[in-house]
Amino acid sequence: MKFNTVIIGGGLAGLAGGIALQKAGRSTAIISTGQNALHFFSGSFESVEEAPQRIAALFEEAGVRLHYSPGVRLMPLGTFREAALSLDDVSLFPTPKIGKKALIVSFRGYHDFFASFLAEGLEKQGMACRIEWLDLPELELLGQSPSEMRSVQIARTMDRIWEKVVQEIRNWLQDEDTVILPQVFGLRYNTVPDRIRQAVPANVVFVGTLPPSVPGIRTQMLLKRRYELLGGTYLMGDEVTEAHVHEGTVHSIVTKNLDNHFIEAEHFILASGGFFSKGLKSNPFRIYEPIFGLDVEQASDRSGWYHPEFMHDQPYLAYGVKTDDTLHTLCEGKPMKNLYAAGSILGGTRPEMGSGAGLAIRSALAAVDQILKTEAE
Ligand SMILES: Cc1cc2nc3c(=O)[nH]c(=O)nc-3n(C[C@H](O)[C@H](O)[C@H](O)COP(=O)(O)OP(=O)(O)OC[C@H]3O[C@@H](n4cnc5c(N)ncnc54)[C@H](O)[C@@H]3O)c2cc1C
Repeated sequence: MKFNTVIIGGGLAGLAGGIALQKAGRSTAIISTGQNALHFFSGSFESVEEAPQRIAALFEEAGVRLHYSPGVRLMPLGTFREAALSLDDVSLFPTPKIGKKALIVSFRGYHDFFASFLAEGLEKQGMACRIEWLDLPELELLGQSPSEMRSVQIARTMDRIWEKVVQEIRNWLQDEDTVILPQVFGLRYNTVPDRIRQAVPANVVFVGTLPPSVPGIRTQMLLKRRYELLGGTYLMGDEVTEAHVHEGTVHSIVTKNLDNHFIEAEHFILASGGFFSKGLKSNPFRIYEPIFGLDVEQASDRSGWYHPEFMHDQPYLAYGVKTDDTLHTLCEGKPMKNLYAAGSILGGTRPEMGSGAGLAIRSALAAVDQILKTEAE
């Protein structure tokens, strides 16, 4: 198998890079082991100012609905956190004062949304709260096992019966100005959160649940679909185990599932994530990048990797693979000629590209620009 570019990792960075390359007419493959950070996504994009045209187009063309309004969003325990660019599900407020009275609605037997803690948090800030629990026969089967009563399973049912939920809310509403719901709507149909907002005569706010994140999974599905519609090859559930490198040029890679076949390409983008996704690993002596053995930024002494106070900023979270200015990765101090890094595998090594989702998208697009530039030279 031969492609123009092979991308290792199918999270936000891998998909953003893959879509941009397919749009530029290049043949690409994304190989991705499994879950990525989007499955835990809050719905708000760190370090992305009002989406520049290129980023906005990337999401818009995939059907991902975004809005931008610097302010705060409501967190699951009734506190507020700053946010700006967010998925449409996330309500953004100029200040933490979101209303006087809230009706919080959850599902009987659902333990991944903490209605009582949420109410307690909001009450501390002067908002009166009332909680109602939906008892729906459609969820009865899920309710028999706590492991089934999870956000994604509920969301699948809600895709079918969200109008029934709206009816229940309308019956319950008294003088509340705000209705708060768990983020379990619109897994397949991303207009559902908006349609709920239009159908309920109060300000509807969706609040994050314990993972998996329904808006994050929807975003992943939409970006993946867009990538595949553009002709990209997404090898899901496979893992790159080894690479063939000669004098700083990567020629091919080997995966677990296709172990007899080399996957060749002109260019490679490493978007395998940070520690969370095993793009970076560690042993007691060093932090390392497992496929190519690239140079990784890190304190030489292990005691410098972490701060003994658990809640303190942890240095290891900023570690990532080293690159030159053009995102070529480094191996023993020398740039790899056709291997670029993008996304959270860069850790804090490229502060000018921001952090979180901002870093993932910006670095992926920058790596794509480098590839196209190299080809044009
Ligand atoms: C739990 C969590 C929640 C987050 N929430 C937010 C948020 O709400 N907002 C925000 O802005 N940022 C958030 N972030 C930051 C996040 O890192 C970025 O937003 C971004 O999604 C990272 O994308 P990525 O593509 O670089 O990496 P990832 O999403 O980690 O994707 C890397 C992918 O590479 C795959 N992979 C790894 N090794 C291999 C291999 N050898 N072969 C094949 N595939 C491989 C992994 O399985 C994974 O699918 C969060 C991070 C984490 C860890």
